[in-house]
Amino acid sequence: MENKVNAIVVRCVDYKDNDKMLTLYSLEKGLIGAGIKGVKKATAKLAFAAQPFCFAEYVLSVNGDRNTVVGATEIESFYKLRLNLHTYYCASTICEFVLKCAQENFADEKLFVLTVNAIKQLNFGEKNAKRILCEFLFKALELLGYGIDCRGCAVCGKSCKEGELSFFDFEKGLLICEKCEYSGVTRILTQTAVGLESLQNGAQLNDESYNYLLKFFNYYLEQKTGETLKCLPQLLSLQ
Ligand SMILES: [Zn+2]
Repeated sequence: MENKVNAIVVRCVDYKDNDKMLTLYSLEKGLIGAGIKGVKKATAKLAFAAQPFCFAEYVLSVNGDRNTVVGATEIESFYKLRLNLHTYYCASTICEFVLKCAQENFADEKLFVLTVNAIKQLNFGEKNAKRILCEFLFKALELLGYGIDCRGCAVCGKSCKEGELSFFDFEKGLLICEKCEYSGVTRILTQTAVGLESLQNGAQLNDESYNYLLKFFNYYLEQKTGETLKCLPQLLSLQ
């Protein structure tokens, strides 16, 4: 039996002498594993389809629970991502997020569209790369049921200000000001709280603020799912 899926390569691992094992994130079936043969030979016609970030229509031969790529039509290679280390690590972080948080054999159109759009924005340099990644993580966490309400303090509605303490309710995903602090909330950097509000309002931030936000999202993800994004420290260590 053959199956066609629109998918992006989120992981590729060498397999045997000339083959690779791909993890595809697809519109139709969420995450799927698929082998692809002979792609390390110089003459391989399908070599492009085994590259990280390749977005293509894949034709899969299905045998039991094993998929093999037998054809592919490129939609977008997203080749430019590889020309800049910042965009490369931002895109790698998005792929790692999908790999760890999306489901196998389960279509999630909204998360798929969000993922492809974020990678497209990174590839074409439409905005600051870390901004694109922060917006992706913020919206993707919401789609997974871990939305964050950061329109000011969740109790009194007041905006977070520099010079005041800020807290976060990790269980409910809420920002809390110093006057409304209650038991069970965790103190966070006010810069992070201000950054979260700015992100939601669409306001621009500086590079340092994006770094605080990315560390926060990684910690929040760990609290919610037990997973952390290992590409993020590499991104944050870049000059
Ligand atoms: Zn308050």
